[in-house]
Amino acid sequence: MIRVRPFTHTSGPARVVFGRGSRHRAGDEVRALGATRALVLCTPQQRTVAERVAERLGGLGAGLFDGAAMHTPVEVTGRALDALADSRADCVVAVGGGSTTGLGKAIAARTGVPQVVVPTTYAGSEVTSILGETEKGLKTTRRGPEILPEVVLYDPELTDTLPVALTVTSGLNAMAHAAEGVYARDGSPIFTLMAVEGLRALREALPALVRDPADPSGRDRALYGAWLCGTVLGGVGMSIHHKLCHTLGGALDLPHAETHAILLPHTVAFVEETVPEALTPVAELFGGNAGQGLHDFATLLRAPLSLAQLGVTEDELDRVADLATADPYWSPRPVERPALRELLQRAWKGDPPARTDDEGRLA
Ligand code: NAD
Repeated sequence: MIRVRPFTHTSGPARVVFGRGSRHRAGDEVRALGATRALVLCTPQQRTVAERVAERLGGLGAGLFDGAAMHTPVEVTGRALDALADSRADCVVAVGGGSTTGLGKAIAARTGVPQVVVPTTYAGSEVTSILGETEKGLKTTRRGPEILPEVVLYDPELTDTLPVALTVTSGLNAMAHAAEGVYARDGSPIFTLMAVEGLRALREALPALVRDPADPSGRDRALYGAWLCGTVLGGVGMSIHHKLCHTLGGALDLPHAETHAILLPHTVAFVEETVPEALTPVAELFGGNAGQGLHDFATLLRAPLSLAQLGVTEDELDRVADLATADPYWSPRPVERPALRELLQRAWKGDPPARTDDEGRLA
């Protein structure tokens, strides 16, 4: 019988609306928040879709800021705050992936304005109270209730345009949130259920989307999975996986989703050695053991497998290992430098993750 450990479960108060066309409800949601003027946020690449959302806002639309950028640079936030003041907006509507959501959170953290988020990737940031920001090449992360968006409108139609490569890496990024949820120190049975359901949805949807990126059922299911996985990240503490990705992203300015995708099998295998029972539901979904199963899944999806593919050089791995062990997040397996350096070496080369044989030796 599975042991029920003591737990505390708290979940965010965000309102979530899921369904095709739900972006058209942005105006109703802005009004329901008691706001009267919305500044729409996006990246330069997503200006057209954001303009359409802004048009539908009618008189509630106060303007559009299209400068969102990856890793939420504070300099961009400064310009967006000027746009917020100039437009006299009292809320933001963020239309885009994690970068755009991050900008909305950064604005809310500084002004308290409410946020409506219309996500277009599987990053999951819209359901967490976590904000990562960069200044002078340094990424810092903080949490707070004022950061959590009030309303999320999940409209799978907006993900139809997500390129296959980003569909795959963003989906694996979402899966990494769920994986950390199953072994989190502050996990709960509810978060484990959500994590497993989210992983199952993405395990079904991602191969279908690689075959046919416009498959509406696949798009719906992937976004549903991403919501669940993001919610798990929002409810539990991050561990070794996110620590390594933040270290790599901050120190070497690597693309977010790709970095998560490459590291996921390795960090799961690393933890699985110490707490295999926590990873059993993941192993059952992906076959064999969880780390190898996730590596096989990423290979099937033709996801990037090596840090070298992202331009990381072998001599940079020592610095990353130093940084990641200097101030580690809690991990079920103690984060010791030699094992971490070995993990990074495998991820750099694109090798399968380290695994133990039946006698517990590294194989
Ligand atoms: P992103 O938002 O940077 O998007 C990547 C690119 O894809 C952008 O050019 C964007 O315009 C484009 N794009 C997005 N959706 C599209 C679509 N449907 N069709 C066509 N193009 C589209 O990438 P991301 O991976 O979603 O977000 C990464 C950022 O989110 C990082 O800064 C990361 O730190 C942050 N993040 C934060 C959290 C959190 O909880 N705080 C969680 C996950 C990610």
